Amino acid sequence: MYDLIIIGGGPAGIAAGIYATRKKLNTLLISRDFIGQVGKAFLIENYPGFEEIRGVALMERFKKHLEKFAIDINEGEEVSKISKRKDGTFEVTTSQKDRYFARAIIVASGRDPRPLEIPGEKEFLGRGVSYCTTCDAPLFQDKDVVVIGGGNSGFGAALELSKYCPKIYILHRGSKPRADEIVQERVKKTKKIKVLLNTDIKEIKGKNFVESIVYQDLKIKKQKTIIVQGVFVQIGSIPATGFVRGLVDFNEKDEIKIDSKTFSIKTPGLFAAGDVTDVPIKQIVVAAGEGVKAALSVYEYLQNVKIKNQNAK
Ligand SMILES: Cc1cc2nc3c(=O)[nH]c(=O)nc-3n(C[C@H](O)[C@H](O)[C@H](O)COP(=O)(O)OP(=O)(O)OC[C@H]3O[C@@H](n4cnc5c(N)ncnc54)[C@H](O)[C@@H]3O)c2cc1C
Repeated sequence: MYDLIIIGGGPAGIAAGIYATRKKLNTLLISRDFIGQVGKAFLIENYPGFEEIRGVALMERFKKHLEKFAIDINEGEEVSKISKRKDGTFEVTTSQKDRYFARAIIVASGRDPRPLEIPGEKEFLGRGVSYCTTCDAPLFQDKDVVVIGGGNSGFGAALELSKYCPKIYILHRGSKPRADEIVQERVKKTKKIKVLLNTDIKEIKGKNFVESIVYQDLKIKKQKTIIVQGVFVQIGSIPATGFVRGLVDFNEKDEIKIDSKTFSIKTPGLFAAGDVTDVPIKQIVVAAGEGVKAALSVYEYLQNVKIKNQNAK
């Protein structure tokens, strides 16, 4: 029986882990990976102490820091269910069917990429369709690619791909890109990147691998095709909450509602932190801070449970 199980190895989960172990809580951290959303970011320029650092490099530093402490880490495992037991403790099941038990839980599972949900997307996943430039860009050396999404993620992805690909198209649904001006300027300077606005993506086509993408030009109301070998989807994200249904309340965006003072959810002993919650600002420094607050709240919760149990004896 652990004192605490943390689900997620992003900034929120790692920061929670560091603080929990320093409070001598017997802790297990389970994470699908140590890439999270940060590892998908091309360059981080707003995390204090690092003027400029690649997302993957920052995650490596976070993980190394966590490993300094006495904590059990299960990497490569995905939590599929959490249930509350009669005695108030929790059972955590993973998709590998392993079971773990704890007195408290912190859900720090962040967000997953939002899919396009168009024909060809699922069929060509891993065969030309990708959601992570940092992970897959080198596989597209000398190939033409499309990036879907005109926000910071889309523009950042295109910049990263420009190191490998001769031609990159950014397709954005709106009439104006949403990326920050500074990022747009960088893209303008890169002659390899072409931004196409007012586009509605219809289908990804190919035989064994991606060969083209079909979109509707919303301005002239005409369907067009671009010949590309890769499609990078960068249209936002959705909270990773499938395993916690029934134990929490969600807001209209499917984010876990938390008490901003205690970090607790409607189920006693269950806490949440970072981008999976309804805290409005989704940034690394915020997620890390929220993870810390959740860990310290768990410590207080476990102390109170201990006192109650002693009084009951
Ligand atoms: C492309 C991109 C660029 C960004 N750039 C910046 C930036 O420049 N500056 C900035 O401050 N922020 C940036 N952000 C936002 C920032 O990455 C997030 O705010 C931050 O990562 C949130 O941390 P988190 O720990 O809450 O979640 P995440 O980083 O999403 O981590 C969640 C972790 O939980 C794991 N997980 C999920 N489900 C399960 C499960 N069922 N079982 C086990 N493990 C699970 C995931 O594998 C992951 O490791 C960017 C985001 C993206 C996508």
